[in-house]
Amino acid sequence: MVTTGSALREILLGDEQYAGRCVLVPTMGALHRGHLALIKHARDVAGPDGVVIVSIFVNPIQFDREDDLDAYPRPLETDLMQCQAAAVDVVFVPDVREMYAPDRSTLVTENFLSRSLCGASRPGHFDGVCTVVLKLFLLSACHAAVFGEKDFQQLAIIRRMVRDLDVPVEIVESPTVRESDGLALSSRNSRLSTTHREDASCIFRALNEAAKFHKADEILGHARKRLAESEHLKIDYLELVDAETMQPVLELRRPAILAAAVFYDDVRLIDHVLISPA
Ligand code: AMP
Repeated sequence: MVTTGSALREILLGDEQYAGRCVLVPTMGALHRGHLALIKHARDVAGPDGVVIVSIFVNPIQFDREDDLDAYPRPLETDLMQCQAAAVDVVFVPDVREMYAPDRSTLVTENFLSRSLCGASRPGHFDGVCTVVLKLFLLSACHAAVFGEKDFQQLAIIRRMVRDLDVPVEIVESPTVRESDGLALSSRNSRLSTTHREDASCIFRALNEAAKFHKADEILGHARKRLAESEHLKIDYLELVDAETMQPVLELRRPAILAAAVFYDDVRLIDHVLISPA
């Protein structure tokens, strides 16, 4: 495990065993099978001579609520053991003070895709994400980075940032890993009560069922009705957006994404399904 950017660079530049392709998997820790699938994907992209770096950093500037940041799980010992078992080459665990100078005054802002969905309900969230991801790219000098399709808006925004700023990093997408009842794995799932955990399988079920309809209003109406049947969750947003622009869709002519964010008490979960026009 390395905790500073300079130590990371020293390892990567100083050791000839790390001469191959460098692939980064940025995470906030509390690793689960979803993260492990990303790590496996990173190994494939890196090839036998390449380096897989996993960063674990609970990035304070992407949280819009102090209580959510404080409650975010941080099981570092277990995470390190999982990284070791997954044959990760380097685990980068920077300190907040290492990442952010007290008088920092620069943010990376994507100004279009980040306006809807999670960007609308969590102001500043994607500024924090873009800023930390760009910093991690620069610190690791990675050639490629793997992101989960689960956070599809984040993925689209990072692709846009990389394109717009000519960042020389290949962005690789990895599919969503789910529990057997359909709930998308998330570090936040461990904070659900037993009742809420059982109930949470309704999110994916509702989205999936709604995806069988062909008209935008029917799709949204059905998903809203199914989610409303749960007495435990509160809908943060439920939207049908264009898969490329993230703008609301009124008629299904191009691939669209039915996306939901819900709260179980203070635990916020997101999920989505892709819908192709008939
Ligand atoms: P996080 O630690 O939640 O910030 O996520 C780190 C990376 O893991 C992001 O690229 C996420 O999209 C990805 N990820 C999180 N959950 C899953 C999942 N269930 N399946 C696949 N990738 C995931």
